[in-house]
Amino acid sequence: MKSIRMVDLQSQYLKLKKEIDDAMQEVILSSAFINGPSVKKFAENLADYAGTAHVVPCGNGTDALQVSLMALDLKPGDEVIVPDFTFIATVEVVAFMGLTPVVTDVDPDTFMMRPDEIEKAVTSRTRAIIPVHLYGQCAPMEDILTIAKKHNLFVIEDSAQALGSDYLFSDGTRKKAGTLGHTGCISFFPSKSLGAYGDGGAIFTNDAVLAVKLRSIVNHGTRKKYFHERVGINSRLDTLQAAILDVKLQHLDEFNLARQQAADFYNHAFMSLPYLKIPKQVPWSTHIFHQYTLITRGINRDELIKYLKDKGIPAMIYYPQPMHRQKAFAHFSFAGQDFPVSDMLCKSVLSLPMHPELTEDQLHWITKHISEYPKR
Ligand SMILES: *Cc1c(COP(=O)(O)O)cnc(C)c1O
Repeated sequence: MKSIRMVDLQSQYLKLKKEIDDAMQEVILSSAFINGPSVKKFAENLADYAGTAHVVPCGNGTDALQVSLMALDLKPGDEVIVPDFTFIATVEVVAFMGLTPVVTDVDPDTFMMRPDEIEKAVTSRTRAIIPVHLYGQCAPMEDILTIAKKHNLFVIEDSAQALGSDYLFSDGTRKKAGTLGHTGCISFFPSKSLGAYGDGGAIFTNDAVLAVKLRSIVNHGTRKKYFHERVGINSRLDTLQAAILDVKLQHLDEFNLARQQAADFYNHAFMSLPYLKIPKQVPWSTHIFHQYTLITRGINRDELIKYLKDKGIPAMIYYPQPMHRQKAFAHFSFAGQDFPVSDMLCKSVLSLPMHPELTEDQLHWITKHISEYPKR
């Protein structure tokens, strides 16, 4: 059996080697390394895939979030509501922009933002909400969009972990994660559902005026070369990365299906184990399983991780520390507040290997050893 990894980018590359090598060769021979034709082509294909009017490629998912905030022309002291249990980037960009992050506790079953907590956090200074579609399924967007409309707030979706996931509206309509808010922020970090061979990101929007602004901001505040209408940044998707991503995009649904099948295998094996709680699948979203994350109960998580490591099974904690306990945010008022659910999650979550290349014998090996843990 091949050694088990959290993410197996090598096996994926070997499956697509010819297509990817050809795409890379073409870029290298053309030498159009910056803003080459593959960037435009990939952005168009991604817009078709996601069903969004505009895709603005950029340097990474964190920039996608930052540029979204830059485009909203917010003022220092304006408040942005974010979840406590997320990757740092969601909250970091708000702080970096001189805005005030207002952190809210999350749902113990879905790990995501709770509409009632958001509603409680709204003040006269609130300008935006950044829901995170954590681990690959969508936050409760219908309620979030209703709150946003009521209070006239922007919604920036942090869709870094959920590219390909569908939101299912109560009236039966489906939309891709990242296409529901004013902007949707995508990351092509190598381990994400659509991963580059380096950094990459994109911003989705259905608003044509906003799209023009976003494109200007990622390109030094420019519309016409050497004429700068605002202070922007330099955030580009490399042509090489775009060419690689365009190949992989054709396989994204296949990859996500393989992740779902691996998750089904795990769920089936762990369903009745008292020391693990399988991930809840919400009725309003499909799940692309960027991560397969369990909650451990009544056992010592570190001992389980060590036991797994001895069996050649990697496991990770996403995330070990909530936003309100990060030293970087110690000066914000939320640092002194209580977020019992996210504290509980940080102490009990455990993510298992999850990627489209997991083989049946690897899944058997992992589930067998986890089921036998009490007999160790
Ligand atoms: C990966 C990730 C990001 C940032 O993406 P980068 O491309 O690494 O900058 C932001 N938010 C969440 C929730 C992520 O998982």
